[in-house]
Amino acid sequence: MTRRLLHSGSILDADSGDIRAGDVVLEADRIVEVGIGLDGDEGVDCAGSLIVPGFIDCHTHVCFGPAGMDPLRVPRSARALSSVPALQTLLRLGVTTVRDAWGADAGVRLAITSGWIEGPDLLLSLRQVGTTGAIGDVWAPRTGTLDFFDDPSLPDPIFDGADAGRAAVRRMIRAGADWIKVTATGSMALGTGVHDLQLTFDELAAIADEAQRRGGRRVMVHAHGARAAELAARAGAASIEHGTYLDDAAVGAMVENGTWYVPTLSVTQSDPEHAPSGSAEAHRESMRLAIDAGVRIAMGTDCPVRPYSEALWELKHLAAAGLGDAGALRTATIDAARLLGLADERGEIAPGKRADLVILEGSALDCSDLEHRVRQVFHNGTEINR
Ligand SMILES: [Zn+2]
Repeated sequence: MTRRLLHSGSILDADSGDIRAGDVVLEADRIVEVGIGLDGDEGVDCAGSLIVPGFIDCHTHVCFGPAGMDPLRVPRSARALSSVPALQTLLRLGVTTVRDAWGADAGVRLAITSGWIEGPDLLLSLRQVGTTGAIGDVWAPRTGTLDFFDDPSLPDPIFDGADAGRAAVRRMIRAGADWIKVTATGSMALGTGVHDLQLTFDELAAIADEAQRRGGRRVMVHAHGARAAELAARAGAASIEHGTYLDDAAVGAMVENGTWYVPTLSVTQSDPEHAPSGSAEAHRESMRLAIDAGVRIAMGTDCPVRPYSEALWELKHLAAAGLGDAGALRTATIDAARLLGLADERGEIAPGKRADLVILEGSALDCSDLEHRVRQVFHNGTEINR
């Protein structure tokens, strides 16, 4: 088997943030050795470069089309086909694993694993499960149709009551969901109900329990307001998505229950002037509270709220919001892998792990201009043609 030797570069230890000189040897889809003075059959000169683990985006939407396209108003096939350039853009930026936060169906994952299209490893949630009137409840006054998907690959996500919540989870899993996405508040984009509690503790606990029964699946909860985040943490959510308006009680509940925070700062920090009034400041304050309390944080972009080409901006926002560069890189690598249950396989440069690697120009940790520093990307041992 060919040993590919990445030599003469610096290597990031994602967990500690330490950088050390060293070589990395890849065989097929795996990292097989990391150390000094290694040998190989084929050399990749990494002089002047920093080798980091492939990035993991815990919250994106790969079937929503380019920023500005309304996915509710295009034919079904256009949504799936729009993932082709989106996935390619993400992979070329070094994003090698993605958790889709709704919109992609199992056919997109099949297309990637079959090699029909190029893309990161894709974890699916299909649609966002929620109660009557929740964000995922797409009905006539808003869209001109009762259920715009009307598609068995993206099942009906609406339920009321705990038993109906279990049934919604079962529908999602039947159609191929790896994660269950739940909405607990309204939406920033629609500008309504961001502090609401759109489901009860019993409903959410039933959903988390049902997901757990099915292969230990877990729940990601869309929650802007503090009360929804607190309720979701207590009801067994694995991660709170957005968490724009957290408070002490919310971050306390998250620490107590081991709940992750996926802040998707790009939503408010990439263009703060056009973010809903006060939200950019509130989001940074939520980060400060979460960091001070010791909440675990994982990277998610919420693309295409911002264009897919800006996905790595999320790291500079995380760094600026208090994590620093090493902390931001950790949220996008080993900590993201921990949230997604993939830490045995991904998120670090270590023997036995998948050969998901990004070679960055220059050896600095600095996250301010990552997309221009990406020189080479390896995904499952294959070099991505950039
Ligand atoms: Zn989202």
